[in-house]
Amino acid sequence: MKVISGICVMPLLTACGHQTETVKSADFFAMDTYMSLKAYGSDAEAAVRESEARIYELEQTFSVTNDASDIWKINHADGQSVPVSADTVSVLQTAQTMHRECGGAFSISLYPVLRAWGFTTGEYRVPADDVIAGLLHNVDDTLISVDSQTVRCPDEMQIDLGAVAKGYTGDEVMEIMRAHHISSAIINLGGNVQTLGSKPDGSAWTVGITDPFAPDALIGTVSVTDKAVITSGNYERCFTGEDGCRYWHILDPADGFPADNGLVSVTVIGYSGTECDALSTALFVEGTEQAVQHWRRSGNFEMILVTSDGKLLLTEGIAAVYTAKTEMPCRVVHRDDES
Ligand code: ADP
Ligand code: MG
Repeated sequence: MKVISGICVMPLLTACGHQTETVKSADFFAMDTYMSLKAYGSDAEAAVRESEARIYELEQTFSVTNDASDIWKINHADGQSVPVSADTVSVLQTAQTMHRECGGAFSISLYPVLRAWGFTTGEYRVPADDVIAGLLHNVDDTLISVDSQTVRCPDEMQIDLGAVAKGYTGDEVMEIMRAHHISSAIINLGGNVQTLGSKPDGSAWTVGITDPFAPDALIGTVSVTDKAVITSGNYERCFTGEDGCRYWHILDPADGFPADNGLVSVTVIGYSGTECDALSTALFVEGTEQAVQHWRRSGNFEMILVTSDGKLLLTEGIAAVYTAKTEMPCRVVHRDDES
């Protein structure tokens, strides 16, 4: 085994000792979170190295704090049009679609409100009601104009892609893996898991779902191939205020407060990391009933909801591959019934 800058390269041997393919993994910190990549194939080393470089590139592009990033430029353009990369255009288009499809529950222009709560820095506080009300005047994703190469936001508006950037990044990594003919890969970008193909032995990947009531444990696992498994929960970036209430980083654009519509975690399982990431945040804000309606309308994803009163809800397409690790009342929702 050789080790190159924290990356392991290990030849896999067949039973009779012939080298077949290589497994390569990398663990690093980017986009403010821990990431790990693992790929199997003769070109795994190049695939992982290229993926890591692409992640750092996208981190630069989407950062809200780096003054060379597309997002910084949009946020400091005084209402003028800004030329941006194709990556930014693509993510913003998904964000706009999500905003439309979930009745405004998903809103990238919440950034100034998130900052007032301290969710962007970790210096948490509960802002005064009039501060939130004032900032909400400038939250309106419909005023963001995106064309094929430029973006323009109203002067007072600022955006952030925290709800969707990691999903898009995961899709880009998967593209690189495919270009290198990798048949098996699994990546974890700060809790966003994406898989390519199956495990090298042909069996499905097992992905753990965090227990939102005990984040060091799992409520269950799902077995998947070629899928993204992406969770939004109220146990990440949260704090207890002086009033003894708990507050978390997914806000309801309706009132600028942490979304509290009956859910403590939403896991979305589907092919597109970008869509699953945006959806997990959007459905968390929508709440149980609207999330179920959204799933019935869409048809291209499955979901696992955990409600604040400790119940589990699985959509029919994921129930068969879900294994419970914690006992919890569970309901499976079907596309055709209205229960
Ligand atoms: P995580 O970043 O923990 O994976 P999410 O994908 O749900 O979780 O993204 C949460 C982030 O999305 C927040 O930190 C914030 O940057 C942003 N955000 C918060 N509320 C909303 C919302 N209603 N619509 C869009 N983005 C949001
Ligand atoms: Mg998300």
